[in-house]
Amino acid sequence: MAKVWRRLAALLGVLLALPAAAEWFETTAAIMGTRIHAEVWHEDAATARALLDDVLAEMRRIDTTYSPYIEDSELSRLNREAPNGWTATTPEMIDLLEKSAQVSQLTGGAFDITYASVGRYYDYRKGERPNQAELEAGLEAINWKFVEVDEAAGRVRFAHPLVYVDLGGIAKGYAVDRCIELLRSAGVTQASVAAGGDSRILGDRNGEPWTVGIRDPRHEDAVAVLLPLVDTAVSTSGDYERFFEKDGVRYHHILDPSTGDSARKSWSVTILGPEATFTDALSTSVFVLGPEAGLKLVDALPGIDAIIIDSSGQLRYSADLAEAAGLTNP
Ligand code: ADP
Ligand code: MG
Repeated sequence: MAKVWRRLAALLGVLLALPAAAEWFETTAAIMGTRIHAEVWHEDAATARALLDDVLAEMRRIDTTYSPYIEDSELSRLNREAPNGWTATTPEMIDLLEKSAQVSQLTGGAFDITYASVGRYYDYRKGERPNQAELEAGLEAINWKFVEVDEAAGRVRFAHPLVYVDLGGIAKGYAVDRCIELLRSAGVTQASVAAGGDSRILGDRNGEPWTVGIRDPRHEDAVAVLLPLVDTAVSTSGDYERFFEKDGVRYHHILDPSTGDSARKSWSVTILGPEATFTDALSTSVFVLGPEAGLKLVDALPGIDAIIIDSSGQLRYSADLAEAAGLTNP
């Protein structure tokens, strides 16, 4: 009898020592004016839930630091003080401003965080546009080179009194990268993090690719393209996210910095690449550039791909993607 018990105890010991089967854990929240969704594959429920809480906390931190709508955010402080002269700021702010400037340089100014010198006067919910005076004065202040960064001294100044910065074209991608980094450094090997149209996938989905859908820009619940993806960032910019229509013209939240008016050469632009900070900023940029110049830029960037739905509803692909999928562009 004792022998049987010993054997049972040994067996039980083996069972307890086996790793618990891993599972998917997920969370959803509304932060940064958008839907946040994260999923992790983990063998421990408490750890997984704590990590997902960390993801949401990081999203909230980035929102309260970089939102131009929150009065005591670091960005709001810069918008008030940096037009008056050198203003001390954080290394993270400097990093984001420098990354933004790199994308501006790369895109010939299609990406420009000072777009908001005019952009601040749009209210998409109320259907309001800048008046003529706001447009003219604001246009003078749109130029990414007005944002001067003194990295060594940790300070910034805006070289025009009316410069107003909005990081809405890059901050969500940055937040997604930060959260993926947080999960990865905690040992997670399979995860996805999405902030609205910006998402990033870590690993695959138990041996299968993840499936990411690109919305049909003119039919809310329809999907235009399904993408099987592994270890990739993907960002979509669309003219359907925030917009109003007036006299048959669609005014939406992606502005051409050279005119202060909405960019209208595309309906949606999706960028694939290794990091969401860059795919986010590039999706906004390529939207502004339009399919022709946009695809030319993307085809010159190693590791970056694009799927554009142009202003006639046609799907257009970057060269590598078109080749991989056996597609041809019109
Ligand atoms: P979303 O996921 O918010 O729809 P997008 O990646 O399409 O984002 O970026 C749109 C946001 O980028 C706008 O809400 C605005 O904050 C900002 N933005 C608009 N036009 C530009 C521009 N030309 N350069 C940089 N940022 C821009
Ligand atoms: Mg973007």
